[in-house]
Formats: sequence, C-alpha cells, structure tokens
Amino acid sequence: MFLEQVTRVEPHLGPLARWAETLRRPRRILTVDVPIHMDNGQIMHFEGFRVHHNTSRGPAKGGIRFHPEATMAEVMALSAWMTIKTALVNVPFGGGKGAVRVDPSQLSMSELERLTRRYTAEISLILGPDRDIPAPDVNTNPQIMAWIMDTYSMTVGSLTTGVVTGKPVNLGGSLGRADATGQGVFIVASRTAQKLGMDIAGARVAVQGFGNVGGSAARFLHSAGARIVAVQDVGGTLYCEKGINPFALTQHLKAGLSLTDFRGPGVLGRADFWDIESDILVPAALENQIDDVVARRLRTRIIVEGANGPTTPAGDDVLRERNIVVVPDVLANAGGVIVSYFEWVQDISALFWDEHEVSVRLRRLLEAAFEATWDTHLEKRIDLRRAAYVLACRRVLEARELRGLYP
Ligand code: NAD
Repeated sequence: MFLEQVTRVEPHLGPLARWAETLRRPRRILTVDVPIHMDNGQIMHFEGFRVHHNTSRGPAKGGIRFHPEATMAEVMALSAWMTIKTALVNVPFGGGKGAVRVDPSQLSMSELERLTRRYTAEISLILGPDRDIPAPDVNTNPQIMAWIMDTYSMTVGSLTTGVVTGKPVNLGGSLGRADATGQGVFIVASRTAQKLGMDIAGARVAVQGFGNVGGSAARFLHSAGARIVAVQDVGGTLYCEKGINPFALTQHLKAGLSLTDFRGPGVLGRADFWDIESDILVPAALENQIDDVVARRLRTRIIVEGANGPTTPAGDDVLRERNIVVVPDVLANAGGVIVSYFEWVQDISALFWDEHEVSVRLRRLLEAAFEATWDTHLEKRIDLRRAAYVLACRRVLEARELRGLYP
C-alpha cells in the first residue's frame, strides 16, 4: 500500500521526484533475537525488529508493537507512514517503527518486563533521544515505555527520559497524551465539516473501534453537539438514531461489560455497520476495513481515518468517484505524534506544560497541517490523501536534497 501511494504522488513532486526512491527504501533495518527466561525456568526466543525508514528531517519516531503476527514488511510500511505523518504536521522527526513477534497475553508481568528490557537492550545501539524515539503501539502501554526508558538509561549510565514517549506522567510523560489522537480526530473532523458547510452540532457520527482513539474522538464530538448514532467494537455493533452517550458507554466498558449489553441502543449485525446513514464516519479500529465493496455501500459524507490504513487504495478510488471526502490517517490521527513531540520537547528542556498549553499547541499544529493539505487539494485538484502525501514527501525530499549525499 505504501509503495503504491508513493507511485501515486511521484508525478506531483516536480524536480524532487529524482529523490523519490529514498521513500521506497528504509534507511536501516535491525532484526534482533530476544531470548528470555520464562517463569517456569524454560528459555524462549522471540524475534524483534526496529526500522528507521527516514531520518532526513530528524530522529526516527514511531511506536513499538507486541503482536504474534508482526512481520518485517508490516513494520517497514508502518515506519514509512510515520515519515509521512511527522513531515506533514511539520515536527522535526523522521519515521521509525518496531515490533516483537509475541502474544503478550500469554506472558506474565515479569516475563513481559524481561522481554521489553531485552528487546530494548538489543535495539539500544540505534536508539537515543537524538536518534530514535519509540512510543506505544498495539499491545504496548505507559508501563512498557517506563521499562524502555529505564533500560536505556541504565545502559548509557544517565537518566534519559527523552528516549521514549508515551511514558507515565510521573516519569516525564506529557499531560494530554492519552486523549491527543482522539482530540486530533475531532479537530480535523470539525474543520472538514466547516469547509463543507456542515454543522458539527447535530451531525450524525458512526465510529468503528471504541478504544483509545475511537472512544476519545466520540467523546469530543459528542461534547461539540454531534450525535453518535453507531458504535462498533470487537464485541458487536450498536445503533441509535437519537444518539449514544459515549461517556456512559466508556463507563460501561470500563466496568468490564460488553458493548452489546449497553442499555438503550439496538444491536446490529457486524456487516450492517457499513449501511448506517451518517454524516461522518470514523474508522478507528483496524487497517483494511474499507475496500471497494464496502466503499460502494457507505452512506456517509466524510470519513475521518482514526486508524492507520483503514481504507485500501481500491476503496479510495470508489470513495473519490462517489465524492465522499476522506481525511487521511496521516493527518487525522497525527494528534498522538504531535503530543509525543511535545513530550520529547518537555523532557529535554525539563520544563513541563499544563494540559491547556498542550491542547492549544496541538490545535495550532494540526490546523496548520489541515489548512495546507486542504489548499493543496484544491490547488492541484487531488484528493486529501494525495495532497497530504505531496506536502509531506516534498518536505522529506527537500531535506534530503539540502543535506545531500554523504560522503
Ligand atoms: P485500542 O486497542 O485502544 O482500540 C481498538 C478498538 O478497536 C477497540 O474498541 C476494539 O474493540 C476495536 N476492534 C478490534 N477489532 C475489531 C473488529 N474486528 N471490528 C470492530 N472493532 C474492532 O487501539 P487504539 O489505540 O484506539 O488504536 C486504534 C487504531 O488507531 C489503530 O489503527 C492504531 O494504529 C491507530 N492509532 C492509534 C494512535 C493512538 O494514539 N492510540 C495514534 C495513531 C493511530
């Protein structure tokens, strides 16, 4: 998908297109063996990866996922999307990503800690606050980031909070990080609605995925007066034309109850989710959800991609034909990486901001990226995804050209 996306923007890069091959090739790839003692005395080996896709504009930045099906190809693509995302929102980072092939639900807490520490030690030769700054991703969390920070600090012999973001607030984390991605989804959804003359108050919203991103986006949208008419998560699909209260639903899920046991809304079949009429659809669960078949069924006006890669290129083509506006993932879910950047800035300056300051600065960076993307889309008559890629690829390749080739 990423290679296809590069091919699609290449004609819009002008003379910089001669550097385009840079985008197709990760700068460096590290595969590591991660052996750990299990609680039962056995020794088990896991495979780990860390990829620096591009570092022309700054240190590599991107999450670490623990997943039994993680592959190098997936990590390479995810690292490339980080290059695009950091360039688009204009933070001084490149793109990176990492993974360990493991099912963390099968590990005890102490096994998980040993795995995290050994993986960190193995990749520490390419980590550092000015080289590569990981963050949480699928199945990793603030506690795991704290272990990464501690392991790296012990390795180099001094406390280095800026080596990883998404840490607990008590350990150099930033206020506002938990809701940053959802808030970003809300900001770009509101701006898009405004451009199309749609009032966010009263707009009907369907959300797929009610985790960190989907749940918090729904809460922000609801607070602005939007009506959350449908929610789908791994457990099922809820539908209510009058609107579902996402705060009450969050409490319900926190209590360990299933989505479909939530009182009030009706329960629909999984596939029916795509037929629900809405003004804004927020896919915030998994990749490859909206292919050409689903894209033909949708009854919505705006798609705001909270998840990474929820729309396939074939799905994109159908949506363009049908005049459904797609706000691409690299813009829509960039709130997380923006506040990660703020966390790194606060760590290296040892000066911490209040939540209001984080939120104001987040809005400023994201709105600037949104406006630039919207203007490029109008000027070049290309969809928003292509416009975002043109802006980001230009920034990356300009930096590449200015730096030149070493030696
Ligand atoms: P999460 O684990 O908190 O939530 C995932 C949600 O998706 C859950 O509600 C889960 O029930 C639901 N889900 C899982 N499988 C599903 C299925 N088959 N059908 C419907 N729903 C399903 O994850 P998250 O952090 O909210 O991330 C969601 C997406 O957003 C991912 O693509 C992630 O890469 C992307 N993203 C997250 C962040 C962030 O800051 N958390 C930042 C950028 C992008």
